[in-house]
Amino acid sequence: MTIAGSVLALLVCRDRACRAAFEADGTREAITDLRCEDCDGPLEAVGWADSEPYHGARGHIDVRRAA
Ligand SMILES: [Zn+2]
Repeated sequence: MTIAGSVLALLVCRDRACRAAFEADGTREAITDLRCEDCDGPLEAVGWADSEPYHGARGHIDVRRAA
């Protein structure tokens, strides 16, 4: 049994000409569906961490641009 909690992910754009990076906080399913805000290309998760499940709502996702 898997509990769908929030995770924090570090994502990078797979387009090497774009190289945008984002931090996303939400369910793993929602994070996997994210697209790059700059080029609409696929993102690759390069790191995962547990996040406090303070959002509660399933499917909610919070995306920030990472340095
Ligand atoms: Zn991109």
